[in-house]
Amino acid sequence: MPIYEYFCENCRTRFETLRPKSQADAPLPCPSCGSRETHRMISLFAAHAEGRAVAGSGGCGGCTPSAACATCSPRR
Ligand SMILES: [Zn+2]
Repeated sequence: MPIYEYFCENCRTRFETLRPKSQADAPLPCPSCGSRETHRMISLFAAHAEGRAVAGSGGCGGCTPSAACATCSPRR
């Protein structure tokens, strides 16, 4: 089972979870504050490998084509 990394928008905590690939994008409550305002982060390996290929399409599941999420935005 792969490890996925998530980020909590509420308390800005990063956490990792082992999950089946089929549940990688399923909502996951923050283990620190319980908030459901979390989203999956692309792993460093994936980001490095796919950085050029996905340029302009957003960095992670929390991003939209017009606005990167707090995790992926270089300004934050
Ligand atoms: Zn949290």
